[in-house]
Amino acid sequence: MPIYEFGCPSCGGITTELCKIGDNGEQLRCEECGNTGLIKHISGFSSLGICGGAGSGSCSPGCSGNCAGCH
Ligand SMILES: [Zn+2]
Repeated sequence: MPIYEFGCPSCGGITTELCKIGDNGEQLRCEECGNTGLIKHISGFSSLGICGGAGSGSCSPGCSGNCAGCH
């Protein structure tokens, strides 16, 4: 399974989890503050591949962050 990084919009903490493809991390909790609603990053592209769009689950590695042309 792929490894995804999830960023916390509340405290900015990063939680790394093994996830099924299509898993958007909604059920995850921030390791730092326990907040839910984490935003999925693409592992290895954590500064470029931030995609927070609703239902985003298949962002391509080169996604610029707004998912335009991504999915
Ligand atoms: Zn947090």
